[in-house]
Amino acid sequence: MQIAFDEKGKRVLAYAADKGNEYHCPLCKRIVNVCQGSIKEAYFAHHANDTCTDSWNYDMSEWHRSMQSRFPEKQREIIVSHGGITHRADVLCGNQIVEFQHSPISFEEIKERNAFYNAAGYSVAWVFDLQEQYDAGRISPCDHYNGLGYKWSYPKASLQCFPQPHEYDKKLVIHFYWINSDGEEEFNRVIWSKHDGGVPNFKEFIASDYPVYSESPDSPLKVSDFFITKRDRLQVHLSKLNCRYVIKYAGVRGHQRDAYICPRRPGVFGIKRYSERGCSYCRYCAAVKELPNGFESYCCYPNQIHEVDECHPGYECSGVPEF
Ligand SMILES: [Zn+2]
Repeated sequence: MQIAFDEKGKRVLAYAADKGNEYHCPLCKRIVNVCQGSIKEAYFAHHANDTCTDSWNYDMSEWHRSMQSRFPEKQREIIVSHGGITHRADVLCGNQIVEFQHSPISFEEIKERNAFYNAAGYSVAWVFDLQEQYDAGRISPCDHYNGLGYKWSYPKASLQCFPQPHEYDKKLVIHFYWINSDGEEEFNRVIWSKHDGGVPNFKEFIASDYPVYSESPDSPLKVSDFFITKRDRLQVHLSKLNCRYVIKYAGVRGHQRDAYICPRRPGVFGIKRYSERGCSYCRYCAAVKELPNGFESYCCYPNQIHEVDECHPGYECSGVPEF
């Protein structure tokens, strides 16, 4: 744990702790050791012979600590009590608990945490570190689902304790984290998975482009800055190339004339998927770079920028619409 109580019951971060003072576990109130090594970040630990009254097995990995420490101190390691039981949430922002999980965790424990926090009135967003699986090539994008789908061979069985993920269910949200081959962090919010009779099977899943959170007035944290979406990353990428988004339509019809046409599906009218107006095949997808004598267009979704023809044959561009 990174936070313990001093003699006055004040929260103290491990790195700021004074080894001469006494600190207590916020849950069982026992005295804990201050561990301030030079390599690992500082933390508090129970004495070797003490077991905390809290039955949950808290992740103590470096990854876990580094994720938590992105949040303001006052939002980390928050004690939640309900029905006479007390546990420690990794992060609490308003009504939203965030749990980071790098180390293995059992089906039963995930289920217990979800039930406890939901019963206490909180939504829970899990962030599972799947870097190893990604690096081993077991998770890879698949061509289905508008470029938002992934395949995962040998998915973790413990995740089957979740209800089948759903785009609009915010009480229990799953993120799969990894750093992709371009070195970018991904927090993939899972909005659908394959399932067997409602039991999720993450052999195939779809990740949303949107973070689940909206900023709440009682949360100083811009959580949206933390849970970066594909679209955010793409926008940053595009700005470096002096490009900007335009809507790309699958076809041309009437009022859609100002849009750019998807070169991959020029004849298809695929509009209004996921509440977005744009090509349903590759969605937002067109980037435009303004030149002195016109503009250049690129297909830029999901992850790459592909140059495409100036315009669809027979289509006269009447300006560049804003995204
Ligand atoms: Zn304890």
